[in-house]
Amino acid sequence: MYDIIIVGAGPAGLTSALYALRANKKVLILEANTYGGQIINASQIENYPAIEKISGYDFATNLYNQVQKLGVEIKYETVLHIEKDKTVQTNKGKYQAHAIILATGAKNRKLNIKNEEKFVGKGLSYCATCDGNFYKNKIVAVNGGGNAAIEDALYLSDIAKNVYVIHRRDTFRAEEMYLQKLKKKKNVTYFLNSTISSLEGEEQLKQITIKDQNNQEQTRKVDGLFIAIGQEPNNQIFANIIDLDEKGYVKSIDGVHTKTPGIYVAGDTRVKELRQLTTAVADGSIAATLAIKEMQQNRKEKMAK
Ligand code: NAP
Repeated sequence: MYDIIIVGAGPAGLTSALYALRANKKVLILEANTYGGQIINASQIENYPAIEKISGYDFATNLYNQVQKLGVEIKYETVLHIEKDKTVQTNKGKYQAHAIILATGAKNRKLNIKNEEKFVGKGLSYCATCDGNFYKNKIVAVNGGGNAAIEDALYLSDIAKNVYVIHRRDTFRAEEMYLQKLKKKKNVTYFLNSTISSLEGEEQLKQITIKDQNNQEQTRKVDGLFIAIGQEPNNQIFANIIDLDEKGYVKSIDGVHTKTPGIYVAGDTRVKELRQLTTAVADGSIAATLAIKEMQQNRKEKMAK
């Protein structure tokens, strides 16, 4: 029996663990892939208070090491089902806790066009910091208009010969500071009000077709395409214990409480205004603190009966 089971080892989940372990609680983190969540792929973080610059990898690894030293238990297993009584079924076992924190983040949104799956790892990637180095002096395209896409384009502009930025609108969501930096790069070409309509090549991606708002199409030879069009949550399997909005994000009552007592939500996977590192770690700390407080209250009430 654990005090708290945390689902997801991204910044929200690891911060929950940090707070719970420091309160001497028995904590299990269940993670399907690797620690760090999406931030591990960010080339540079420049908007985390008091840290001027840090790579996503270093940030995630520092946080991971911090909770490791406090004795966290992490199992790399996929959660399949959670019951209201806080029993968690994974692909490998069954665990129980007094409280559960869902910090499942989100997965990369797909373009959903023909050949997308076929070219993954063969010219198509969702992670510039992972795969960018394969494209030294080559031609690459980045699709998207948020911080991730602009950061990817910046990163790639120092490696590749040419970078095409393809975005479906004429204004970007990304922070002005990143945009200003990118504007200074001489090897970046913008395709605005444009989408990618096809991916072509035999074994390897060789060419993309870009369609503008007038449905005019043009083809461009590319060696690599980086898709950075946001994330989507993956919470359907928890629908028995939580409410989801139309996009699949977890609806909370007041931030971190879900409709089921003892089940909390933290980070990008919940309905929120701002999905950033700062808000993910804030959620993680609040969720763990409230979980502990409410666990203690429940214990006192039981003893009083
Ligand atoms: P995002 O901010 O949601 O941006 C996604 C972009 O993709 C938007 O420009 C969107 O266009 C476009 N898009 C969405 N669906 C599309 C589709 N089907 N086809 C074509 N384009 C599509 O996602 P993100 O850039 O991955 O960032 C996610 C969160 O992480 C944000 O809060 C971001 O600030 C944060 N982040 C922070 C940093 C950092 O601070 N260093 C780095 C990376 C990410 P529209 O604009 O038209 O909707």
